[in-house]
Amino acid sequence: MKSINLKWQQLILGLGCLLLIIACKSFYPTTNSDAKLLKVATDPTFVPFEIQTASGNFEGFDIDLMNVLAKVAGFVVQFESLPFDGMISTLQAKRVDAAISGITITPERLKTIAFSRPYFKAGLAIAVREDNQNIKDFKSLQGKKIAVQIGSTGADFAKTIPNAKISTFNSGPEFFQDLLNGNVDAVVSDAFATLYAIKNGKLKGIKVVANLLTQEYYGIATPKNSPHLDAINKGIETLLSNGTYKQIYQKWFNAEPPQLPDSWALGIGH
Ligand code: GLN
Repeated sequence: MKSINLKWQQLILGLGCLLLIIACKSFYPTTNSDAKLLKVATDPTFVPFEIQTASGNFEGFDIDLMNVLAKVAGFVVQFESLPFDGMISTLQAKRVDAAISGITITPERLKTIAFSRPYFKAGLAIAVREDNQNIKDFKSLQGKKIAVQIGSTGADFAKTIPNAKISTFNSGPEFFQDLLNGNVDAVVSDAFATLYAIKNGKLKGIKVVANLLTQEYYGIATPKNSPHLDAINKGIETLLSNGTYKQIYQKWFNAEPPQLPDSWALGIGH
C-alpha cells in the first residue's frame, strides 16, 4: 500500500513539473529559438551605413535596417565584419547568409550572387581637395590621378576615364587620406557616404563636385538561390509601407527618402 502511495505521489509530482514547464514555455514565448540565425557580412568602414564603435558594436543606416528587418522577418542577425572586396566571394562560397554594406546592385554582380529589391538610392560622385578648381566633371578627370576603393563601383567607373592613373585602397578613410596628402587629384566613390562625412566634420578639406556620376541602388546581397531572399524582400516591403524605413532614413540623413523601384530589374542605372 505504502509503495503504491509513493508511486502516485511521484506521478503527481512528475505531472506537476511537466505542467510547470509547459506554463513557463507559453509564458515566455520562444521567438528566439524559433527564429533563424542569419549570418550577415558588413564592412564597417562606410559611414553612415556601417560603422563599428570603440566598444565593437555595429551602427549605421544598414545596421538599423537589418535589425528591424530581422524582427519583421523572424531572423536573429549575427553581423560579421568583412572587407568589402571579399564580400562577393564569401557570399558565393555561402560562408555567410547575406551581406549588407551599401552594396550596389550591378548586372556584373548579379551573375554570381543574388540581391534583394533596392533599399537605397545612391550614386557615385567626385571628391577633390577644397582648393581644387579644375576638376568639375567626368571630362576633367581625364589623365588625372584617381583613388578608388578596391572592388567597388567607383573602381569600375574609374576604369572608364581615359588615361586616368588609378590607385586602389581598401576603404574610405585610406583613399581620402591619400587625397588630402596630395598623392591623388580626386576620389570617385559613393556620394552619400562622402557628403555625410564632410557634413559631420569627419572629412576636413574635401568637397564633392558636380552632379552624381551614376545612379545606383543598394541591395541586400545573398548567395544565389538563397532560402532567405523571399523573407528579406517581404521584410523590406513591410518596412517601406509601415513607415519604419522613413524613420531610419530621417534619423541618418535628416531628409525625406526618395522613391525606390520595386525591383532591381528596373532599378539598375549603371
Ligand atoms: N556602393 C559601392 C559598391 O557597391 C561601395 C560600397 C562600399 O564601399 N561599402 O561598390
